[in-house]
Amino acid sequence: MLKINQVVSGYGDIKVLKGISLHVNEGEIVGILGANGVGKTTLLKTISNLIKTREGTITYLGQEIQNSSPHKLISMGIAHVPQGRHIFSKMSVIENLQISMDHANKKSNGKDRLSYVFDLFPRLKERLKQLGGTLSGGEQQMLAIARALVAGPKLILLDEPSMGLAPLVVQSMFETIQQIAKDGTTILLVEQNAVAALEIVQRLYVMDMGRTVYESQQITNQELDKIKEVYLGMS
Ligand code: ATP
Repeated sequence: MLKINQVVSGYGDIKVLKGISLHVNEGEIVGILGANGVGKTTLLKTISNLIKTREGTITYLGQEIQNSSPHKLISMGIAHVPQGRHIFSKMSVIENLQISMDHANKKSNGKDRLSYVFDLFPRLKERLKQLGGTLSGGEQQMLAIARALVAGPKLILLDEPSMGLAPLVVQSMFETIQQIAKDGTTILLVEQNAVAALEIVQRLYVMDMGRTVYESQQITNQELDKIKEVYLGMS
């Protein structure tokens, strides 16, 4: 579904991604793990063309997209849930969702998409008029994911959904992410919380210094122990 081939990108003179390659198959939850500052956020921003691809190609459903605008990518079915959520804090829950629906993948029905996100996140339905900025951290993350979903995506790029959330909230958030994948949306998940991410991903890459340094095939318990010890400094 998504193929990243030898991609280089960065900021000014600094190259952050240094020829990274990876792929995501339809229906998968693929994890990107790695320490602070290795380029995970930069990778997602490069896929959604918030940062320019300098070298290499990004192919989505057979089409090269590295030069497609972020708006075009949303209409093609790629949604990005950024780190830190970036919801509109002075707008209500429903206004946040409506803005995203205006840019949606028009092939699916808006009403159906709204009722789908309210089934997933009943808390949001109870707080339609509440301003985004007054929601709890967990609710803001729900709104950020809901906002991506109402655009009718085929692929969601999720940047550290667990950041700043209490362990119980993280657990329920990850169960919901699993449900979203079961319902047919493919997920590329960037996480520092390796323990939680390892529970739900089908495949994973470990990143270091702008490249992937490890790619899992099938995640067995033995492989998990090795990944934790060798690549994530856990034992
Ligand atoms: P974290 O888990 O801490 O978010 P990350 O793996 O997502 O880390 P990135 O945010 O992609 O890492 O950052 C990779 C490198 O790019 C870092 O060295 C960072 O300082 C640098 N960087 C990020 N944003 C910018 C920017 N706007 N201008 C210059 N350098 C940046």
